[in-house]
Parts: sequence; C-alpha cells; structure tokens
Amino acid sequence: MQLRFLGAAHEVTGSCFLLETGWAKVLIDCGLIQGRPADEARNREPLPFDVGDIDAVVLTHAHIDHSGRIPLLIKSGYAKHIYTQRATRDLCRIMLKDSGHLQEKDAEWENRKRERKGLRKVEALYTVADAQAAMRYFRAMEYGIEQRIAPGVWLRLHDAGHILGSAIAELRVQDDHGERVLVFSGDLGHSGAPILRDPALVRRADLVVMESTYGDRCHRSWASTWDELRGVLREAREARGNILIPSFAVGRTQLLLYVLKQHYEDWGLEGWRMFVDSPMAIEATEVYAWHWRLYDQEAAQARSENGDPFSPPGLHLSRTPNQSMAINKIRSGALIIAGSGMCNGGRIKHHLKHNLWRNDCHVIIVGFQAQGTLGRALVDGARHVRLWGETIRVGAKIHTVGGLSAHADQGELLRWYEGFDGRPPVALVHGEEDAMRILGEALQERGVKVSRPRRGEVLKIP
Ligand SMILES: [Zn+2]
Repeated sequence: MQLRFLGAAHEVTGSCFLLETGWAKVLIDCGLIQGRPADEARNREPLPFDVGDIDAVVLTHAHIDHSGRIPLLIKSGYAKHIYTQRATRDLCRIMLKDSGHLQEKDAEWENRKRERKGLRKVEALYTVADAQAAMRYFRAMEYGIEQRIAPGVWLRLHDAGHILGSAIAELRVQDDHGERVLVFSGDLGHSGAPILRDPALVRRADLVVMESTYGDRCHRSWASTWDELRGVLREAREARGNILIPSFAVGRTQLLLYVLKQHYEDWGLEGWRMFVDSPMAIEATEVYAWHWRLYDQEAAQARSENGDPFSPPGLHLSRTPNQSMAINKIRSGALIIAGSGMCNGGRIKHHLKHNLWRNDCHVIIVGFQAQGTLGRALVDGARHVRLWGETIRVGAKIHTVGGLSAHADQGELLRWYEGFDGRPPVALVHGEEDAMRILGEALQERGVKVSRPRRGEVLKIP
C-alpha cells in the first residue's frame, strides 16, 4: 500500500492525499488551493487522479482548504460517498455554497475583462448549484465509531478540537500484505480553546500524517489573551466610538460571541449594541448552537445554566443589506463583527469606510492577515488605505490580539504526538518551510523518523 501526497505538501492549503492499496483507493480531503493567483490557478488543472478509481472520500473538516474542491470532484463524475463528522457536513452546506458563490463572482469579473480583450469566456470552477448537488454524497459519522468505507478500509473519526466537527481520521487498512493503521491529524486545535474539546489522543498508528502550521511557534496563554481583550474593550469604551472586529464567519465569530457572553459583566460590555453583520456567520452560529453535544465541559455547563452560549445581551443579527446599512448611522456604542476576516471583501469594508477615519473608533484584529490584504495593511500601520478607489485616512486605533488561533502550537503538536504508543513515523504536511523544518527537528530529537513529502511524492507503507 502507498500514500500519494497531492496537496498541502510543503504548503498550507489544498489538502489532498490518496491512499492506494491492492484493494481500494481512498481520498483524504479535497481542498482548494488558496493564496497567490499563480497558486490558485492550479485549482483549474485537471484533478491529479482518475475520479472513477476512487472508492471513498474522507473529509477531516469544513475549512475550504480541506473541502473546497469537493464540488469539483462531483462535477468531474465522482458519485460515491464522502465520509465526515455530522457537524462538518452541516458546516459544508454553508461553506461550499459560499465558495460556489465566490467562484461564480470570480468568473464573472474575469469574463468582463476577457470580453474587452476579445478573449473566450471562462466557466466558473463550480457554481452554487454544483456545491448544493455535492451535499447529496455526504455521509455523516459520529466520533469514535468505526465504519467500513471501502474494500479493506475502516474509518474512525476522533475530535480534533479545531473547529466544530473537525476530525482526526484513523484508517485501518487491509490488503494482501496485512493490516496497517494510518492516522491523519487534519488540523489540530489549540488546547484550552473555548467551546471545543482538546484534540483527542490516538494510540495506535503505523504512520502519522501530521499538520505543522504552527510547528515553529508558541501561543501565549488564554488568560493573557482575555486580559488583553478586556484592556482593549475598556479603552474603546472610554473613547466612546465604535468597535469593528473583522472575523471569519465560521469558528472565530462563534468564539467571540461566546467569550463576549461569558465575560459580559467582567469586561464592562453593558451599553454596547453588538452586531453580527454576516448572513454566513449567522447560519454557522446556528450550526454551532445545534451541535451542543460536541461542546467541552465548560461550554456545556454554560449552555445548561444560561441558554444559548452565543447570545450576549444586546446582540443584533443583521441579515439583509438594509439592516447592514442601518448600522452605518450609529456613531457611538456599536460593536460590529463582520466578514471578511482579512477585510478584503464582505460587509466589513463598508463599516471600515464609515469608521476607519474617526479617531474615536477601534479596530480589533483577531485572526491571521495574509500579505497583500487590507487587514495586513492595517496591522502593519498604514496611515491611509484605499476603499473602492477612495483614499481613507486611518484615524481609528488598530489592535492586534494574536492569541485566538484555532491551531495547536509546537508544544501542543508534540504532546499530541506523544499520545501514540511507540514512535510511529511521521509525514509532515500543511505547513510553511520553516514551521515544518523546526517541528521535524523537534520530533527527530525524540527519535522519530520524519519525512516531508513533496507534492506528487509517493510514500510506500511497508
Ligand atoms: Zn482548518
């Protein structure tokens, strides 16, 4: 048997691995490549395998860099099952639809340019309808229960604690040469994070395919992150303006709502009108509320004592464009959570236009900001930014609160690995060069055999 590394190999996005045995072929993740235009262009290349040969697909979690090419897979003729945790299926219904919408808009924009040049039009990578059609192939699983998914292949999912429904995939694989256990970490969560449980430990593996996103980093403690947020909110209250928090719709927004409710009195939030201004975030919050059985002990207790943990007092959900525009009239006391998380699209841009130039406003950056995004420019201290061709002065105070990561840091990755019996070999994926190298060295110091496969490389499993 062998494992083919088709994505997230020496890079962070496009997660995709193909397990090939004498009896079956199973694809693990089928993510979209995200980043620079040259990288994203690879999404349009033909899928690097014969779709008709695949017996089953396993999906670790709903993030688009793991799930985003599934509609393309279905469009290309795959008609068997996609196995995933139940909450991941429910989040995919929202996220793949949104991705289809973005693909349609991208194609529309590209075609307007092409028309002017007299070039042939391009088709969207996939559409909203393709994304909706793909949902029929999803098969929902619970954590901990093993299921046969292909000839000689059994799958068990474990909680990865990264976003709701995220899973570590344990594959028990048999062929003519015997039985092996392969464990795919997916993305591992940050221990102690609100709402979610810590990543589950797995004991048996003959090979561990492990993420390394923050393999070179150590997160600050949760307690100091909460102190920092409390300080920023106090400063904003004294300034009497508005607060803008650009946020990803899935995961980060729910975490913010949860801590704003938990610390409502302690952080002096009385008097703020809070807005979630994103239909997608509102839908994702409903999925988080529905799957309360997946919460950690603290969140489960908070829910049983105080009801819905994502509804701090004074919360308004803004679904329609009119509701969103009405927020622009508020000069003081509004706390606005809106997408996109990196400020390069979505409703947050309108709020920035109305608030960024004002000295009494505050912007709190709570997520990673990629090079070249508006969010990154703000973090880097830009004095002016461009919005729809207009120059806007940055008068608001910009705060970066870095401790809210959804990924395990180096210490947590190593502790998770130490949960295995013996010292199974590790293939590192899903990381940039430095992070992978540094985590690899830390594992090697512990006597572990580490590989860092390149895209297209095949690893034989003895
Ligand atoms: Zn992820």
